[in-house]
Amino acid sequence: MDRRHFFHGTAAAAAAGALAGCAAPAGTAGSRTPFAVAGTVIPVVGSDEVFPVRRIYCIGRNYRAHSIEMGSNPDREPPFFFQKPTDAIQYVAAGTVPDHPYPSLTKNYHYEAELVALIGKGGRNIPIATALEHVWGYTLGLDMTRRDLQRAMGDEKKPWEIGKSFDRSAPIGAVHKVAQTGHFTKGAIWLKVNGVTKQSASLDQMIWSVAEQIAKLSEANELFPGDIIYSGTPENVGPVVRGDVIEMHIDGLPNLSVKIV
Ligand code: MN
Repeated sequence: MDRRHFFHGTAAAAAAGALAGCAAPAGTAGSRTPFAVAGTVIPVVGSDEVFPVRRIYCIGRNYRAHSIEMGSNPDREPPFFFQKPTDAIQYVAAGTVPDHPYPSLTKNYHYEAELVALIGKGGRNIPIATALEHVWGYTLGLDMTRRDLQRAMGDEKKPWEIGKSFDRSAPIGAVHKVAQTGHFTKGAIWLKVNGVTKQSASLDQMIWSVAEQIAKLSEANELFPGDIIYSGTPENVGPVVRGDVIEMHIDGLPNLSVKIV
């Protein structure tokens, strides 16, 4: 099973809406829905709980060498963010190598290894100094990218959406509670394809720290419990083809692996 879903009807939908900070529109309380809509959750390590995913934010170009390889000047750019839909999540259990389908429309499908911070307490205009108090847990994930489409759309000054925000574009591991792991501000992050190292860096090489990302994001949008943030990838992103096995690592977390099929 590659995704975990919960299904909600009337009461549960209202509860989920309240949890996500989205009040039901006036006059809809108690109304029945004509069909169930799946929500996305991620298992929590050492717990019966699952983490409900509300929004998936991703920062762009957050390591100097990656920023340069993507054609930017890392010294002059403020942070920028995009989103993936919650059903882009492909949950990957530790110790397994599930199939990850090569997506449609692309001929240049890239990996990006990233630390993911999961928000447990929302807020607006969150100060950097207290931003990490809003993190409930961490995991690791892949920001899979149709690089050819991302570039083509960028060249035409159109939205990146089709390059970044498609089905299963966000493989992700189980959530580790920050209470048990502490914060991830340094340590190795690497990615291998078929056992060959492709990306290798340290989390302290981020241009914008997780705390700074939370502060910046909360200026643009109110953050809520359930929001998650892909914190950017180091340099040496590259392509995979069918049959390749990706393995990624962050110090302190179990490795995440998928097979491209
Ligand atoms: Mn990325």
